Amino acid sequence: MEPKLETEALSYSVGNEAIIEDISFAVPEQSVVAIIGPSGAGKSSLLRLLNRLDEPTGGTVYLDGVDYREIEPQRLRRRVGYVPQEATLRSGTVTENVTTGPRLRGESIDRDRASKLLSRVDLAGYGDRAIEALSGGERQRVAIARSVFNCPEVLLLDEPTASLDANVEQQVEALLMDLIPEFDLTCCLVTHDHSQAQRLADRVARIEGGRLRQFDTPSAVIE
Ligand code: ADP
Repeated sequence: MEPKLETEALSYSVGNEAIIEDISFAVPEQSVVAIIGPSGAGKSSLLRLLNRLDEPTGGTVYLDGVDYREIEPQRLRRRVGYVPQEATLRSGTVTENVTTGPRLRGESIDRDRASKLLSRVDLAGYGDRAIEALSGGERQRVAIARSVFNCPEVLLLDEPTASLDANVEQQVEALLMDLIPEFDLTCCLVTHDHSQAQRLADRVARIEGGRLRQFDTPSAVIE
């Protein structure tokens, strides 16, 4: 079966500095790939290349076998959702944040779907609350819901639980493990936490110095 997402000799340099070099791997549909490696290895940079938030300086990415440069960027980013490390939520209510995508596109908002999704991320009844009143874990669930509301096919998550307490981290992990099959998502997540990679991922990409050092099952990479 064709991979959902595939990188081919993906490279990214800024000036003379090679940040990502010649990375090729394939992400099967509805699988989870964890990107691990030391700080500064290029994990976040790699993730940003996967939906063309940064422009590769070499190689490319295929989405369902189509070179992503052939897909209109707004459409691409809708199909490949991205939850940054410190997701910036807008001042306003939870519902306003969750519905940001269609509102920015000038589409009508399905409030019923927004409310159902909020229940799904354990934020039932939070729709009218101000973002400022939420805890870190609640904000992260809003950021995930905002992405899922766009009906992405692929979800990119940068350190989804890095800023959370251990018990909240577990809740967010459990939520992701439920949402991924429920919404038929294919997922790439950056984590520095090897045990999280083992819990969540089908495959692990280990990056060091901007290069792919290993791409294998979690137990083969993390020993
Ligand atoms: P990680 O996520 O693994 O900690 P990053 O992808 O954030 O690593 O960064 C990898 C390296 O690339 C770092 O040395 C960082 O300073 C550098 N880097 C990332 N983006 C840029 C940029 N736009 N300009 C210059 N250097 C960058």
